[in-house]
Amino acid sequence: MPIRYAPIVSALLTLEQAQALVLAHAHVRGPEPVSVWDAAGRVTAEPARARVDLPPFASSAMDGFAVRAADLPGTLPVVERIAAGRPARGTLEPGEAMEISTGGVVPEGADSVVPIEYVVQHDNEIEVREGLRPGAHVRPRGGDVAADDVVVSAGVRLGAVQLGALAAAGVAGVACAPRPRVAILATGSELARPGDELAPGQIYESNGLMLAAALAAAGADIEALPVVADDEADHRTALERGLEADVLVTSGGVSVGPHDLVRAIEAELGVEEVFWRVAIKPGKPVSFGVRGETLVFGLPGNPVSSLVCCELLVKPALRALQGQRNPLPRLEPGVLATSLQRNDSRDEFVRARVRLDRNGIVLEPLSGQESHMIARAAAADALVHVPRGDGELHAGGHVTWIRLGSD
Ligand code: AMP
Ligand code: MG
Repeated sequence: MPIRYAPIVSALLTLEQAQALVLAHAHVRGPEPVSVWDAAGRVTAEPARARVDLPPFASSAMDGFAVRAADLPGTLPVVERIAAGRPARGTLEPGEAMEISTGGVVPEGADSVVPIEYVVQHDNEIEVREGLRPGAHVRPRGGDVAADDVVVSAGVRLGAVQLGALAAAGVAGVACAPRPRVAILATGSELARPGDELAPGQIYESNGLMLAAALAAAGADIEALPVVADDEADHRTALERGLEADVLVTSGGVSVGPHDLVRAIEAELGVEEVFWRVAIKPGKPVSFGVRGETLVFGLPGNPVSSLVCCELLVKPALRALQGQRNPLPRLEPGVLATSLQRNDSRDEFVRARVRLDRNGIVLEPLSGQESHMIARAAAADALVHVPRGDGELHAGGHVTWIRLGSD
């Protein structure tokens, strides 16, 4: 009779537990003033308020003529011509019109603008054959936002729209959390630099570049450390250096092989491990620890595992360090194009393409789902969440997914 080992009752954390532990250690740092010209991608620490009413004055929404609605229809003399940036000299008297450009200051006495298309022009007179609702084509002062009202609330990553709004409201500086300094260290004696010739047994190092790109987009200030060989002394030196950052992210060397040194050397250097191994696929061997205020992530070396752990664990930590609201990955709803087998013990994240058809968002899982297949993953724009359990998720069924590369 062959010996049957009882399955090891694994103490693997669930993804939710692991994320909660990461967030419990990721504390936002005190704010610093940032000029809006340097604030793209930064996260607001306080609400940013308008300096002025926006628009700052009642302005014309059209090229046309400022009038009093009560005077229409009718024929009116044009008493002044108002360009954008140059208010009228006088008040509009009953029965008069003033030519006005889009963005021009609606003069005192006028309540509406009649667009040029509705006007028959004679020398210095206009004829308007239809009536006009009072207020027509006038943008009221403060109609977008009033002075002192919040333009961008706290905890928001500043993208193009937010920066445009801040500038329009006259805001030149905002309080933001500092950018977390993130050291990235790829480990592995087999790793060669793209551009060099591969010696026998070597592969090109890809995680360092990938993680640097992902985390820079998530607001980090990146220090890419030189690749380190699977050697204890080299690991010690490199990890010690990396631990000076706010966040140290390593790749490789966190599994159970004899050359997997990262966790042991980190422990020697005073890193307290918070967890090792999470019930996800790919990415199970991921580790997380802390030394003082420094967060320490050990991502598995397989590139897709590194990518998935970065999306699920490291980017949420970076968002939390910057005080961003809702730091966890945003799950979006969609429908599966083809069925997927579930893993009985681990939540799986399947690379897929997103397309829109008449039923909504459809996710097409890609072929080549192994954790070394980074080239296949390059065609994906989504990670489909396949919750652990029995059986399969059927084609046409509802799933949730994370957009790859979103901040
Ligand atoms: P490890 O986690 O160190 O056991 O590595 C797992 C697999 O990922 C091995 O096939 C490694 O060669 C590969 N690998 C590790 N680090 C990298 C890296 N930085 N870039 C590309 N592949 C890597
Ligand atoms: Mg390795």
